[in-house]
Amino acid sequence: MGHHHLLSAEQPSAPLISKRVIIDIHTHTYPPSYINLLASRNEVPYIHRPPDDSDPRLIILPSDDDPSKPAEKRGRPVDTSYSSWNEKLKFMKTHDISISVISLANPWLDFLPSETALQIAQQINDDLNAACESQNAKNDPSQRLYAFASLPLSASPDEIISEIRRLKTLSCVKGTILGTSGLGSGLDDPGMYPLWSALEEESTMIFLHPHYGLPDSAFGGPETIARSGHVLPLALGFPLETTIAVTRMYLAGVFDRFPKLKMLLAHSGGTLPFLAGRIQSCVEHEREFISNGGDKQGPQRDIWEVLETNIWLDAVIYSKAGLKAAIEAAGPNGIDRLCFGTDHPFFPPISQVTSGKWSSVTSNLNVVEGLGLKDEDVKKLLGGNAAQVLGIAI
Ligand code: URA
Ligand code: ZN
Repeated sequence: MGHHHLLSAEQPSAPLISKRVIIDIHTHTYPPSYINLLASRNEVPYIHRPPDDSDPRLIILPSDDDPSKPAEKRGRPVDTSYSSWNEKLKFMKTHDISISVISLANPWLDFLPSETALQIAQQINDDLNAACESQNAKNDPSQRLYAFASLPLSASPDEIISEIRRLKTLSCVKGTILGTSGLGSGLDDPGMYPLWSALEEESTMIFLHPHYGLPDSAFGGPETIARSGHVLPLALGFPLETTIAVTRMYLAGVFDRFPKLKMLLAHSGGTLPFLAGRIQSCVEHEREFISNGGDKQGPQRDIWEVLETNIWLDAVIYSKAGLKAAIEAAGPNGIDRLCFGTDHPFFPPISQVTSGKWSSVTSNLNVVEGLGLKDEDVKKLLGGNAAQVLGIAI
């Protein structure tokens, strides 16, 4: 198989972790410039600022843009926690998180016109990096910030690649977040090869994150979706989108061509850990693949091997069953491939009277702590793994 232990070949195995340091690798922001950009638009994605003092509305998912509702009832409220560094630091303190690796939230820069995309990406990535640098200059070990950058996917491939390379010069950037649309045709589009090649060469961690969900028709249409608010698109659309995107990459042989790609999958890989066995079995039984007498290439590597070498998973899954499946699917060293995250500032407490911890965070912490893991493994999952794979000193 030959691709085992790419990471351990590049980096010596982790020293024993003495402290419990919580690193949040799944935490978002919308910088004020980005909020203003969304507020200047009137089609998805956009922000509606009501004339009264109520919170602006974030209308970013196709299903958010329900014309039967007034704009001030569409989407979700977006308060200052979405762009304020102070709120991020406060949130970290409340939950004992000492390091956050912050990414722009969806839909990132996917919708920008191609002429401005590179320049806006550079500005946003520079601003994010500078905010992290200035926080880290305070030398407070309990409040450190790093970033996942965003790519100008609507720019030309050369421009995108120039930004991939430039990110290596930004001291706090630890990788890049990426949606599932790629250059518009998905992540299995051969047009993506030059990007994968650059990302592989720069050893950039790619944080794969959903946004587009599934077509409304998968859920019975807009009326059916509207009956349960955001539950169908967020609980099912998001994780299935991630699962489909990474499975398409796998089937198209992207991990065969680029065996050193490093991907961190949001929400514990969607449903990939649960379905990997079925994917593998369907591949082995597909008569159209050359290996089974057909004429289509098909993937050359086991899905399990890809999970063990190319893929890391966050622990944003909210259940023991889900986290166990994720650790199990990530291979014999699966416990080394899971990284704690929060998805802040999404899923805030419904009632603002709770000034304390967010249940969306404590539920995931409780799952980690309730799994019966060795203390050493809890430390890996909460921060040690992220520190090692992203090169953050703890
Ligand atoms: N989490 C995200 O990152 N984005 C959303 O839109 C909702 C939840
Ligand atoms: Zn997220």
